[in-house]
Amino acid sequence: MNSGQRHAEIAGNLRAVEERIATACRAAGRRRDEITLVAVTKTFPVSDVRHLVELGVHDVAENRDQEARPKSAECARIGLADLRWHFVGQLQTNKTRSVSTYAHLVHSVDRPRLVSALDRAAASARRRLTCLVQVDLEESPDAGDAARGGARPADVGPLAAEIAEAQHLELGGVMAVAPLGQDPAGAFAMLRSISDRLRSSYPDAAVVSAGMSGDLEAAVSGGATHLRVGTALLGSRPPLR
Ligand SMILES: *Cc1c(COP(=O)(O)O)cnc(C)c1O
Repeated sequence: MNSGQRHAEIAGNLRAVEERIATACRAAGRRRDEITLVAVTKTFPVSDVRHLVELGVHDVAENRDQEARPKSAECARIGLADLRWHFVGQLQTNKTRSVSTYAHLVHSVDRPRLVSALDRAAASARRRLTCLVQVDLEESPDAGDAARGGARPADVGPLAAEIAEAQHLELGGVMAVAPLGQDPAGAFAMLRSISDRLRSSYPDAAVVSAGMSGDLEAAVSGGATHLRVGTALLGSRPPLR
């Protein structure tokens, strides 16, 4: 497929996704401008990021530092400006220094050690990082989804307080991945009530990052402010390495 064909393909996918978001907004009585579409570009080349930017999408997400760091550097090198990089994957403390050099929003903060490491890393990078608390919405703990990470709902408050108190971090809000095999509407309702509670202490922490290709309608009706969409925009990814 040449570049023009790929551009047309992504443009068509984007139109379809925007159609779905618009329909979900109408059904929920929400405005489209309350919602940020974040394109998950993991495993896809920089040329696809360029197509997205040309189509007006400036928020992109990655889940592995090994891929995100060179990709963001290459985008900067070829002059793709105005990009906001979202880090949405499981994060190890030894990667925080690298992530803090390019990420604007880290969606996956789920433990205190990560807060202190990100704070130190942001300080040495001379940047401020916005952090979301990733919440584990699994109904039964240890249901086998631990690889995705996330803080237990009871730990969200204390973790949020640590982020809010960190000098170089901004508390942005909350993020979740709907657990496999559970009704996403129920999961997103729980996320919303956690977000409501958080905002009563931190009114500016209004981000609710929820919803992917398969469940974005449920996320819009559940109050999401950020949708993380990969497959529906860029196509299916090769199986996990
Ligand atoms: C890959 C990924 C997505 C995008 O998933 P799709 O189903 O391809 O839209 C969203 N969120 C996270 C955390 C991801 O890792």
